[in-house]
Parts: sequence; structure tokens; C-alpha cells
Amino acid sequence: MTELRRIAEDVWAWVGPGRGWGWSNAGVVGGQGEALIVDTLYDLRLTREFLAGAAQVLDGREITDAVNTHGNGDHCFGNELLAPEVRVHAARGSSSALHDAPPQHMSALLKADLGPVLTPYMRKSFGPFAFDEITLREPDSLFDGERTLDVGGREVRLHDLGPAHTEADTVAHVPDAGVVFAGDLLFAEATPIMWAGPSSNWIAACDRMIAMDPEVVVPGHGPITGQDGVLAMRGYLEHAFEHAEAAHARGESVEQAAHGFDTGPYAGWENPERIVITMHALYREVDPASPAVDMLTIFRMMAEWDRVNGADA
Ligand SMILES: [Zn+2]
Repeated sequence: MTELRRIAEDVWAWVGPGRGWGWSNAGVVGGQGEALIVDTLYDLRLTREFLAGAAQVLDGREITDAVNTHGNGDHCFGNELLAPEVRVHAARGSSSALHDAPPQHMSALLKADLGPVLTPYMRKSFGPFAFDEITLREPDSLFDGERTLDVGGREVRLHDLGPAHTEADTVAHVPDAGVVFAGDLLFAEATPIMWAGPSSNWIAACDRMIAMDPEVVVPGHGPITGQDGVLAMRGYLEHAFEHAEAAHARGESVEQAAHGFDTGPYAGWENPERIVITMHALYREVDPASPAVDMLTIFRMMAEWDRVNGADA
């Protein structure tokens, strides 16, 4: 069982037991008699483990609130395991990502024959998770921009800094603890995914997180970090944008731009093939006339990138 790690007084982080797609992090913030959960996990087995750990560290304190940092399933598919009276907060706009890839859709994709390149990629990436048994529980307390919660006398500030990774991306800041839960505005030692963009907004979000002056930053994926991790993320985004701009000016297709991307100082970050997703968003940023592409096509291109350039290639 993965332990919750204490990262500040009465603040804990859950760091997923695996690496790669879907292995997200989560958190617990305790106040007097009450507690907040930051994100649930990708399936019920993982979320049960996380909530059992939370119950242990909370020692009788009641979970009154939860926040879903954004609408990707690896941060909210476990919501149904929260008690019905728990208020589930999310920034308005978070649910669009949820509706793009609901659990039934993921489950069907895993069973489908998607051809010799995409089928093994999907199974390798999403096979560890059980989507069949999930009933989606959507956030029921939506906010615009910012919301401050009182969790048993403790202040927790929610800020929607998106669109960036998705249409809405919330960070949870616990000022008295110097902790920021960054959701997927931060991937640590892992290649970020920009579904929505623009990168300029994501870079601004990194600056906002730095301005909070945290001692500990819990990324949506990867090991617990600090401001260094946020600066590295910012650097990757700038590096990718410069490449997209130059590749677009040379007349390259998105696919060519993604294959030609030199990770430079970010070599070694897991899932480098995810540049394919980000490059699509960057091209739309550089040239708004760039066509939008459906998710399955993007996954097919990403699986191909992985086959040609990936670690197993
Ligand atoms: Zn995620």
C-alpha cells in the first residue's frame, strides 16, 4: 500500500505507485475536525487505498470538502467513493474534459482493436486501471476564478489558472503550510500534456505558483517537488513553443514538428511522445487556422511517435 507522505503540518500527499499515464497524485489537508481531499484517483481500487490512508492520518476528522483540480479522469474518477455529503468543488469548465473521455469510453477503447500500433500503446498506457465499475460523480460545487475554503479553521485557496493543460486548471494553495497542490499544471520529471493551451497562459500559471512562494509543490504527476519543479515546467513550455514557432515557419506539419522536437535539457522526462498532443495545441497558438484534430487521431500519432522514437523502439 502506498503511504500518504506528510509534507507539512496536517498536510499529506499521495504519490501514485506507478509512473506514466494515469498515475496521478492526490492530497489531504486537515483542519480542526474537518478535512479537504485534493483530487481522487483514476479508478476505485486506487481511490479506496488513498481514502483508507486518509482516514488513518485524519484520525476521526471528517472529510467535508474535496476539490477536483480539473476534469481528466485520473483526478476525479474516484469521486463516487466520497461520502454523499462531501462538497466536491471544481472550476466551471472542468467538466468538458470529463465528457471527452468518460470511464465507459476508456473501457471501450481498451477492448477495441485499434490496429497494430495504437492497440498495444493504449493497453500499455491504460491497461492497469479498471474503468468498468466506475459511476461518474461530477463536481457539485462549481466556482469561477477563485474560491477560498475554510476547512476546520484552515484557509485553502483554490485558483483556476487555466485554460492551460485543460479548459480549467485549479491549484489548491494552503498558505499557512507553504504548500501548493498544482494538479496537472505541473508534471514533475514527466512530459506535460497541453490539451487546451495556450502555453502563454500556462507559463503565466507557473509564475502565479512561484509568486505563492511555496516550500512544497505537489505535481499532478511525478515526485513531490518545490519551485524548481515549476521552473523546469516553465522552461519546457518555452522550449516547446520556440520549436513550434520555428517548425511552423519552416512549413512543417504538426507531425513533422513533433518528430523533430529535441527535448534538450528535458531528455529523460517520461512519455516524451506526449509532445504530439502539445504540438497540436502549440500550432493552434502560433496559427489559429491550424485544424483541430480528434483525440483518437492524436493518440494514433502519439503511438506512432512512441514506436519510432520511444524507449522500446
Ligand atoms: Zn493527470
